[in-house]
Amino acid sequence: MEAAMNASKRDASRAAFSPVFSIDECRRIARAYDGSPQSIDRLLTQWSAQKPGLKRRHITRAAQRGGYRPDIARRRWTESENAWLLQHWSSLSDTELAAALGRPAGAIQQHYRRLRSTVASPAERTFSLGALRRLTGVDPREWRDFIRRGWLESGGGPRDRKAGRAVQVSAEAVLALLQAHPEVLNYERATDEARLALNLARLPAPPRFKRVTCRSRPCRQQGGTAFWAPIYAAPRCPRCGRLTSRLSTLAQYRVQAENAAESAAADRSP
Ligand SMILES: [Zn+2]
Repeated sequence: MEAAMNASKRDASRAAFSPVFSIDECRRIARAYDGSPQSIDRLLTQWSAQKPGLKRRHITRAAQRGGYRPDIARRRWTESENAWLLQHWSSLSDTELAAALGRPAGAIQQHYRRLRSTVASPAERTFSLGALRRLTGVDPREWRDFIRRGWLESGGGPRDRKAGRAVQVSAEAVLALLQAHPEVLNYERATDEARLALNLARLPAPPRFKRVTCRSRPCRQQGGTAFWAPIYAAPRCPRCGRLTSRLSTLAQYRVQAENAAESAAADRSP
């Protein structure tokens, strides 16, 4: 009898100092757990006195053992989860983030990238070229071309191990590009998301015509054929009949329609 009591005392004391929970404790934790980082913090505080060395992952595991099942598909990100993620992203591993948020690591990464682009202040907002394609439909190859031409400022992105060394472009840089080269994107037809993320409302109404230059072989021999085309057209050279780059390398624009009829022949500057 005495031996049995001692044994159960030993068990109790071992349980008390182990971060492992009994099944009953797991069920209690599961009832109090809702998958949010706040509920983990709360439970961690609550159980730490009894379970020294307790970690967040012990709480999430206990909740799962106790019957908690995250409803990932239907669970929307809350404001406090967003704030928590932005704060802890760079200090926690993918596994820790996934355990803390009760969401798959891939979903967290994807959400984080989206979050950075919309939550940061306009000056800090940066976008990967893939994010710019998603927002505007303009292909990363074209964005890289703008960077090569010196039309678009880019950086290596924030010092962020997960963002790697991918090219990052600020919303300010995109605005500067569109101001200098409005033919790049029909920004008046952009989605609401793009409008908000890139601050497109700050741009003036686009001009109606651009001056493009045909550099096909026959036209190049003449130093290129410059001609006017509607601002978003994929223009065809009136001299040689070939498709010409939609970009105005001359960065020349006109608002007035009548000037667009100017003939290419009269206008052979490169
Ligand atoms: Zn031509």
